[in-house]
Amino acid sequence: MSGIDETRDPGHGPAGPEVTGGPATVGPPGRVDTLSPLVRRILCPNPSLMTGPGTNTYLVGTGEVAVVDPGPDDPVHLERVLVAAGEALRWIVVTHAHPDHAPGARRLAERTGVAVLGFDERAGFRPDRRVGDGDEVAGGTAWQLTALYTPGHSSDHLCFVLDGEDGRLLLSGDHVMDGSTVVIAPPDGDMAAYLEGLRRVLSLRPEPASLLPGHGGVVRQPRERVEHYLEHRLARERALAAVLGAAGSASVDELVATVYEGLDPALAPIARYSVWAHLRKLAGEGLVIEEAPGGLEGRWRSVSSSVPTDTRPADT
Ligand SMILES: [Zn+2]
Repeated sequence: MSGIDETRDPGHGPAGPEVTGGPATVGPPGRVDTLSPLVRRILCPNPSLMTGPGTNTYLVGTGEVAVVDPGPDDPVHLERVLVAAGEALRWIVVTHAHPDHAPGARRLAERTGVAVLGFDERAGFRPDRRVGDGDEVAGGTAWQLTALYTPGHSSDHLCFVLDGEDGRLLLSGDHVMDGSTVVIAPPDGDMAAYLEGLRRVLSLRPEPASLLPGHGGVVRQPRERVEHYLEHRLARERALAAVLGAAGSASVDELVATVYEGLDPALAPIARYSVWAHLRKLAGEGLVIEEAPGGLEGRWRSVSSSVPTDTRPADT
């Protein structure tokens, strides 16, 4: 059976392609996983705390192929991608310029003469063609890849909506991942923009049937996953604001220690960035003030605090 089931209301629950490739099926590196008639996935061998099993490189299309996120400049991985794409490679697309997603694009371009598409030039990444929100990036009559600007994890982050004959998928890059935490690291990372970007994903109509993340397996219930992300972040922010309100003022590290009780020390750097990013968002809403500027070392005060800050001991 193919095509969209017309009896389903596209506004309620996504109809779309059957996609295989859940969390348990990621890897080993180098294997070409066919996830749907239009999508293949090759895992890059760069596992880490930040990348989970590694970076997912996606090949989209059949007659003409787009490679999304070639990954780091790993010759072995890129050779596998080239072999899988073959003569059909037409587009090299990058979700964002981070080192686990973009550097391989240049080597692929040099080998094939195919143009690299991405948001802008930064951190050693230079797209041949710049792509913005709503731009049709790749495809033809049978499928279309359209950019969705989703800053937050990074200010250059794009997701890509894949519309095929049998429905819609979303290549979500590091905006929504599977299995690992999305890092929001200011100043390039922006929590307010990130949460707004999650709401944008929720507002897509028709809804994507599945998400194809930059790390981890296929996300089959996109709405549940994204709503969970939003709730989790906002609950953390409320906890943080409450602690700061009670304390009057606090440093990022003091807030991490209180809000993230029992935190795995390996995740502490991510938690620090996350707290800082929430504080910057709250400052933008006029709820907190950075009283001693210093980035991760800064000190913050709750605007609505009932505790006069001048009665508290000096931090230094
Ligand atoms: Zn990544």
